[in-house]
Formats: sequence, C-alpha cells, structure tokens
Amino acid sequence: AGGIGGARFLKGLRLIDNLEISVIINNGDDINMHGLRICPDLDSVIYNLAGESDLVRGWGRKDETWVVQAQLAHYLGKEQWFNLGDKDYATHIYRTNLLNAGVALSEIVKLQCTKWGIDLNIMPATNDYVETQVQLVQGEAIHFQEWWVKHRAALPATGFKLLGAEKAKPAPEVLSAIEAADLIILPPSNPIVSIGMILQIPGIKAAIMKAKAPVVGVSPIIGGNPVLGMADKCLSALGLETSATSVAAQYGDLLDAWLIADSDNDQVSAITNLGIKCESAPLLMTDDQAAKEIAAKAIGMLR
Ligand code: GDP
Ligand code: CA
Repeated sequence: AGGIGGARFLKGLRLIDNLEISVIINNGDDINMHGLRICPDLDSVIYNLAGESDLVRGWGRKDETWVVQAQLAHYLGKEQWFNLGDKDYATHIYRTNLLNAGVALSEIVKLQCTKWGIDLNIMPATNDYVETQVQLVQGEAIHFQEWWVKHRAALPATGFKLLGAEKAKPAPEVLSAIEAADLIILPPSNPIVSIGMILQIPGIKAAIMKAKAPVVGVSPIIGGNPVLGMADKCLSALGLETSATSVAAQYGDLLDAWLIADSDNDQVSAITNLGIKCESAPLLMTDDQAAKEIAAKAIGMLR
C-alpha cells in the first residue's frame, strides 16, 4: 500500500470477518526534514486506521495546529514548502529519536500501532533509507516530495527511481508474509510511486511471483482519472495511458485478477486478453462500507 488510497482500502478490508491482514507500505516518500525522519505513507495508513487522520486535507492528523511550523518559518523565512502540523511533529520526533537509538523502523511502526490500538500487521517495505527521485526533462533528479508538494507535479518528468534500492533489504517480516499469504492484494494505490517503489526493493517482486498465493489488484484509475493524487501525472511521465488497462499491463505477470470500475467495463475484454481475470464493480471508496464491498469483491474473484 501507499498512503491515502491504501488507507481507504484497508479501512474497508479490516471490516471483513476472519482475515489476518499484513500490510507492506511504501517508503519511497520518506524524507529527512529539520533533522527528522518523515514517513508519509506509513503515517497516513496509521493515522487513518487509528481514526486520527484529516479526511478533508487527505494527509496528517485531524484537529491539527501549526505552531511549530509558524515558529520555524520565523527562523527560516517564509519559503518553506513542506508543512507539518504539531501532532504530526510529535510522531516524527518520536520516530527519529528511536531510529537514532538504533531501533529498526519496522519495530517503531509496531510501537506506533500498539499506541494507536491497530491490530493489522503493518510493516515498512524496508528498514533502510530509500527515497523516490523524479528525473526531470530539464535538469537533475529531485526528491519526489519536492516534485509533488513544492511543484504540484508541474515540472515535466521522464521517470521515477528509488534511490538506495540496490542496497535496501526487505524489512524482516516482508518476505515471510508474502510467502505465507493465502491471497496477495494490490490495493488502489499509485501504481508507479507507491506500489512501483515497493516492487523496486530487491526480492519483493520475486517473492510475489514465487508465492503460492494468487494476486488480485484493484484499479486506482476510474474512467481515465486517478480519483485524487497524481497517478495520471506519473503514468504520463512514463508515456503510459491513464487507464485501468494500462495499469494492469504495467503490473503484467504479477496479476492473476484485476478489479476495474463498472464505468470502465468496456475494458474487460482487453484485460482478459492480457491473460488476467477481470471483473468490474463500483470502485469509489466513498466510505468504509463502500471500501469493504470493493475489498470483498476483489477477494471473491479468486476464491
Ligand atoms: P498516496 O501515497 O497518499 O498518494 O496514496 P496511494 O498511493 O495509496 O493512493 C493514491 C491513489 O489512490 C490515487 O492516485 C488514486 O488513483 C487512488 N484512489 C484514491 N481514492 C480512490 C477511490 O475511491 N477509488 C479508487 N479506485 N482509487 C482511489
Ligand atoms: Ca505516498
């Protein structure tokens, strides 16, 4: 899972009875800022599952205040582009102190989940520091956060790379979770900068290919639109169409089944022709119940 798409899906999935859920989360968005380690997708999922996220803003904590940010601006000038709320800062301080004391990120995530009463087995894709870099048409590669948050994806890009991936190892329980799974689900997260970056950690894609469990994905694209976020900008940077079929083709061999939006059901035969079982259903995660029905439908495709 990535951040918000993954989180919305998980809030539905966990309502289904008798599931034991392990979640592997993207680290590509991670960034060091003001001496603190920020892990946006991990925190998005944790805050959402804890019922603590700001559903309107789409990131960070609800009922947030911005005192620290304002005081930082006093010292640093007004040109800050990466804003964090006070409650959010507490998370980053807590995490960074533990990291500096030598505690692995996966252990810190477990501590966070315990504090918030989350009973899903949440894990980072890797305990190593990695970051997604965006290769611009003009000039150098920049951090994904700078491309998305500072420039609102307005700078033309030609590719996305996970810096540090070669040396990164999957976090301790990642490969065993994949191996032990009865079903592997690719939630409707960004296929390039969320799921795509998880798959760049050496060993993870191979483990999914080798796993006994079949793989079902839920399309993050509905009728040529990414619902929210920048999936369309990422796909077009790679010369790919923004469609349910194009994302299925991008995942390729990984998928046994692909659930697409009912409004896209004219694409069912094209996807079936790729050798992937395809069905359509309403895919807007308007609330937890809607997300639960999507999750149940996806699971049902391979049962
Ligand atoms: P991020 O890390 O916060 O960008 O979150 P993800 O990578 O997990 O997911 C972002 C993607 O989720 C968006 O680009 C959308 O394509 C997808 N998404 C968000 N809401 C919905 C929804 O209601 N239905 C579907 N099918 N996809 C959604
Ligand atoms: Ca993200």
